[in-house]
Amino acid sequence: MLGSPQAFNSYVAECQADLAGRRAGKWTISVGISECSVAKGAQRTLASIERELTRLNVPYIVREVGCGGWCWAEPFVEVQGPDGPPILYGSISHERAIILAQSIAAGETLEDWSIGVRAGAAYRDIPPLDDHPYFGPQHRLLFEQCGIIEPDSIQDYVAAGGYTALVKAITSMTPEEVIEEVKTSNIRGRGGAGFPMGIKWDGGRASQSWPKYVVVNAHEGEPNVYKDRRLIESNPHQLLEGIMIACYTIGAKAGINYIGGEHVMAVKRFKKAVDDAYALGLLGDNVLGTGHSLHVRTRLGSGAYIAGEEMALIESLEGKQAMPRTKPPFPTVIGFMNRPTVLNNAETLSNVPHIVNKGGAWYAGIGTEGSTGTKLVTMQGPTLRSGLVEVEMGMPLDHLINHLYGGMAEGKKFLGLQTGGVSAGPLTEDMLGDYLVDFDSMKPVGGMLGSGGFVLFDHSVCPVALAYYLTEFSRYESCGKCSPCRLGCPALVEILGRIMNGQGRAGDIELIERHSDHMIRLSLCGLGKAAPAPVLGFLKMYRGVFEQHINDNICACGTCPIDSVAALQPNRRAATTIPLAHRPLSEPVPAGNGDD
Ligand code: SF4
Repeated sequence: MLGSPQAFNSYVAECQADLAGRRAGKWTISVGISECSVAKGAQRTLASIERELTRLNVPYIVREVGCGGWCWAEPFVEVQGPDGPPILYGSISHERAIILAQSIAAGETLEDWSIGVRAGAAYRDIPPLDDHPYFGPQHRLLFEQCGIIEPDSIQDYVAAGGYTALVKAITSMTPEEVIEEVKTSNIRGRGGAGFPMGIKWDGGRASQSWPKYVVVNAHEGEPNVYKDRRLIESNPHQLLEGIMIACYTIGAKAGINYIGGEHVMAVKRFKKAVDDAYALGLLGDNVLGTGHSLHVRTRLGSGAYIAGEEMALIESLEGKQAMPRTKPPFPTVIGFMNRPTVLNNAETLSNVPHIVNKGGAWYAGIGTEGSTGTKLVTMQGPTLRSGLVEVEMGMPLDHLINHLYGGMAEGKKFLGLQTGGVSAGPLTEDMLGDYLVDFDSMKPVGGMLGSGGFVLFDHSVCPVALAYYLTEFSRYESCGKCSPCRLGCPALVEILGRIMNGQGRAGDIELIERHSDHMIRLSLCGLGKAAPAPVLGFLKMYRGVFEQHINDNICACGTCPIDSVAALQPNRRAATTIPLAHRPLSEPVPAGNGDD
């Protein structure tokens, strides 16, 4: 138990010395153990390499590190010899692990399986990671230590500079000074809405009612978004430190991390991080002898997408069904247990230690003026590489796809990029160079950064079917509290379903647009307001495809059930190409007149 800030400083030196001592004269083998790598056999890889190194009498230590974001290269193993640089190897199955162990014993490197040298210059024939198209363009701030430190070791986090921001904040900064730095950084929320964090913290600080709470939204129930769980799995202390600083700043004694219960490894590692922080005296009633009380606990969500909406999340935390409340009052005034509550996304809060340590102005210098800092991005679809990257805000989307993700996989042809999870529309290929990874550039054409989840689809995917799938997701997840969403989502699904099945009617497109208009204007929360966004976006970019389905009974992709219906029709026209962007991009989607 550390009783003072000075004791903490001594502890930092102890952790660094201890880590160096354990590695001295030995090979350091780091294996990424996260939910994604375990699915690809990383635990067998780890067991194989340990067994073989032991058999060969090689002096080594094994470190279970977290996810580094390079899903395409899992399971990965990083090897650092007593005198050499750390070398990253990818796709190391348990069979390959044995060969890798034998190469270590022989003092050799395996260039064919290597991805790069993690730190430093080229080694033998292995280039530095900075030269790799996946790693070089990234700006790893939150992910800097992910895949390097052991998530279950508080000593590792401290040795890498962890908790120095907390100590700095509580010993040398007033809460107002912390808020000023956050405001200067101009950081906006990473959960989807992009609301300025400094304004939210200001509101929480100003509320004159106690107790106050900090609540973390780590629920992450959107399809294809997996950044928060990987961040927590790989560096739980970074988020914990952000929560502690937030608590100190707004005057809260308690923080609650609301994690989706299905993210088992993230939950386990975060709970361990909390226990270790209590044992060290970083959490408790008298943090480092400064008189501040900070307590953090973990609560599990049960998987409903709507529980990611801030008011619904608070209802869920209170033990009720996750249903949004009307706003105002906002949570910073009346939130959890009717007390002032600052609710931030896990990625957003993980930025806080960096802002406090290096200053708001430094942070504002990264990214663009309106979207500062970095962004965690996940990409799904037929690209050469897949995974989670951290890039500076403002990176053009075509660079992201063609450089980092390596462009389309062999034999695949780009058709569209779905943005904003289930809350926005797609972009076509000719638009990629004009739009950026940021909060604002995609909005005029119906796209959105959202929480950073992109789905790229090729010519084997029918836009009508994808619009149906995305709308069906919203229908399934609608909480049913308000009628525009409760009735509107099924109506859209029904119309899209009949178009997909070859039973579309004249006027269906206009009907979709009128229903959508009602939902956007009248729904209570963001889910209902955004539910029509995908279908409106798909209509904007691929209107001709919808018209082909309705008027000609043709699905050019050949994937819709329409084909089995249309095949029975002798005069069916042959489909050749997928018609794109029949409507000029600048033309607004017509609003309905409220008749339906
Ligand atoms: Fe529930 Fe949908 Fe209404 Fe939101 S818009 S409150 S999800 S019914």
